[in-house]
Amino acid sequence: MTGWGLVRKAWQAAGLALALPPMKTPLLALTALSLSLSALAAVPAAAQASTGSCEDAVACAADAALEGDSLAWDFVEGITTEVGPRQAGTEAEARGRAWAMDWLRANGFRNVADEPFQMRTWVPGGPPTARIVSPYPQDLTIVPLGNSASTGPDGLTAEVVYFPSYADLVAAPAGSLDGKIAFISHDMRPTQDGSGYGFAGPARWTGAALAASKGAVATVIRSIGTDNDRTPHTGGTGFPDGMAATPAGALSNPDADNLERMFARAGNTPITMHLTLTPEWLGETTSGNVVGEIVGSDPLLPPVLLACHIDSWWNSTGAFDDGAGCGIIAAAARNVGEAGKPLRTIRVLFAGAEEVGLFGSTAYSKAHIDEPIAVGIESDFGADRIWRIDSNFSKSNPDLYRELARSVARFGVAPSGEVASGGADLNIVRDQGGALIDLQQDGTRYFDLHHTNNDTLDKIDPQQLRQNVAVWTQVVGILANRAEPFGPAK
Ligand SMILES: [Zn+2]
Repeated sequence: MTGWGLVRKAWQAAGLALALPPMKTPLLALTALSLSLSALAAVPAAAQASTGSCEDAVACAADAALEGDSLAWDFVEGITTEVGPRQAGTEAEARGRAWAMDWLRANGFRNVADEPFQMRTWVPGGPPTARIVSPYPQDLTIVPLGNSASTGPDGLTAEVVYFPSYADLVAAPAGSLDGKIAFISHDMRPTQDGSGYGFAGPARWTGAALAASKGAVATVIRSIGTDNDRTPHTGGTGFPDGMAATPAGALSNPDADNLERMFARAGNTPITMHLTLTPEWLGETTSGNVVGEIVGSDPLLPPVLLACHIDSWWNSTGAFDDGAGCGIIAAAARNVGEAGKPLRTIRVLFAGAEEVGLFGSTAYSKAHIDEPIAVGIESDFGADRIWRIDSNFSKSNPDLYRELARSVARFGVAPSGEVASGGADLNIVRDQGGALIDLQQDGTRYFDLHHTNNDTLDKIDPQQLRQNVAVWTQVVGILANRAEPFGPAK
């Protein structure tokens, strides 16, 4: 998801410290300005006829996308149906790349390629179990967290120690968890901008390592998710170099509620759990980044880079995360190309192995760091409507920012003074110090589905998906037809 992969990275880098949600800055006041009409000559008759009042070819293409785009849906419907889950580094992810390359070629993209890289690959193993042995014997619903160690097939049995919040675990004395299973029940609430993930995420990102540092033999967390279904949320957890990983899993929210009630009733009676998690490391395997281009008329100009990620967790068909994102960016790129050959090349990057540690983003930057990117944008926060546009050049290039913001106001998108940090797969643009845009999607229900087996096609609202494509088409169409550099703030 946009930005939060980076938050997670920053957290892991910061070790075991406590997090605060990101600070907000006031909205920029907008002034009216005139839209460039340079692309008007290229307006296709069909696009004009279908919409009537649009200002130029790109605007017409965006309006047409809002009305009837089917391409983004075609992508996400196809990859969830024909490929399904795409765990990084596995043959399933490789099938996803092959499928995506076929789709790009069939839809007019050029220079379609799979750029392979090697990675250390983790897989979840057999069915996980978490059984309360005493005093209230019953099975709880659990999934392993990425990078979790194995309990071995026979599992382990230990007393559970309850921490209502991550801060309570931070406060626990060294050695106080020797031989115990830590239960971190840090609770997440939905937010439109996804900032609840920054508040709750540390329990998953670093909770197991923190508990292990205090002696825990395993960790179970309340899912980092906002639903009340028995659909536990996986996601990566991290252990510092030199620390042995421990088994770590996430209980569904109702099961975490149940375990909390057990603690409320049990008094001084210990609560004992039998936990079986059997993940494995496959060693070095191949992942890859899929790229494709709508080739522009001036090959000397740096391209506009549109990113998403092709992998998903094993338990999810990856509809919201991130099949929809790949569909949105590809549909927008093609719409702009159909509106008239753009000045700049538009390159799509379907990054591999995002979920497990941004390996594709890192590999892409390493391979292409000497090839300047004009501007980067990512879609990785589901398929609900875009409500705000952020950039990192609203101060250094205010005219362009205002033009972009004005152009998408008709789709219900607000301007902002937030500084865009770019999605997780845009490492290359950050490494180059380049221009970034974040098209912020409504994340209110994103964490109901995130990293669960409930992330399926039926959750995508086709109308909101089309609004995404419309906004992207408009923004990418303006950017791809600008010759001057975009100039992020230094
Ligand atoms: Zn994602």
